Amino acid sequence: METKNKEKAVKKAAAIKPAARKPKAPKEEKKPAVKVGYVALLGRPNVGKSTLLNTLLGQKVAIVSDKPQTTRISILGIKTTEKGQIIFIDNPGIHKPLHALNRRMMNFVYSSLETSDLLCLLIDATQPFGHGDEFVIETLRKVKTPLFLLINKVDVVRKDKVLPIIEKYKDLLPFKEIIPVSALTGINLDVLEDLIYKSLPEAVKIYSDDEISDQSERFLLAEIVREKVLKHVKEELPFSTAVYIDGIEKKVLTDKDGNPRPMTFIRTSIFVERDNHRKIIIGRRGSLIKQIGIEARKEIEEILATEIYLGLQVRVRPQWRDSEDVLDLIEGQKG
Ligand code: GDP
Ligand code: MG
Repeated sequence: METKNKEKAVKKAAAIKPAARKPKAPKEEKKPAVKVGYVALLGRPNVGKSTLLNTLLGQKVAIVSDKPQTTRISILGIKTTEKGQIIFIDNPGIHKPLHALNRRMMNFVYSSLETSDLLCLLIDATQPFGHGDEFVIETLRKVKTPLFLLINKVDVVRKDKVLPIIEKYKDLLPFKEIIPVSALTGINLDVLEDLIYKSLPEAVKIYSDDEISDQSERFLLAEIVREKVLKHVKEELPFSTAVYIDGIEKKVLTDKDGNPRPMTFIRTSIFVERDNHRKIIIGRRGSLIKQIGIEARKEIEEILATEIYLGLQVRVRPQWRDSEDVLDLIEGQKG
């Protein structure tokens, strides 16, 4: 860097001298052209959108689970390279909304269809085509934005299973590209990134080079706790659990040798809709909530790089999924 700047300075000095004798019209500063744009990740719940975002960014910004409807709010993941800046929008899965929560989730999807320069529709190569897929196709039918099809999870299907999927999809929507990928292992993601850059417009970067997401620390912490809950529960509970951070307090305590010991106190509410759900999350003699706490604490300590105290309170809020107030509260954490 140093030497380069010096070289530049030398060249500049050399260039200025003759110009001083014979003034020329000033040349317009030409910035290197970079590609910049918004790319929406779309598809049914559980196809691997959040996994793809994390792998592309090389960092976890979105939580992942094997339960559907894990992602409830769109989040941005920003990837800046020498070629430009891709702003990925990770969305909730496309599904028919039954609760106020789900209508909000689908509104994120609709608005990302409008704001994006490119749409990437992900499908799960391990799943047969069904009604849910028809609903996705219908949702995207009227959209004019360029569209890629990503056939995901090809790390776990035989090669000869992929061709029939391409055949099935190629005429359903006007895909510009069809790319078999693995969000988990990274197969073809370099190819995907190249093709994305090719289809984005030339523009000025929107975010600074070190920005990676638009979500607040508070929201990410709540999401990590929710991810650990989702890992351990099933049936109705994944859909009807929400996490709210009541408070984050950073303190410096003193250890037994008198050294400063930075500690972050995080108080968290886990909302469920019924008392029997509360009992499930707490577990026999508190064993499950303890396990959830251990797993969440470990990951949060890595992110915050300090010791943390994590308080988890399970609260019953009947029908919170239809309570606009609770939904506002939870969405409001994003930042
Ligand atoms: P989303 O709902 O579309 O955001 O899906 P997630 O990213 O939460 O992933 C759903 C599940 O699929 C998780 O259990 C992931 O580990 C798994 N998954 C995602 N991508 C891949 C992949 O490329 N290969 C395999 N084998 N599993 C994947
Ligand atoms: Mg997701």
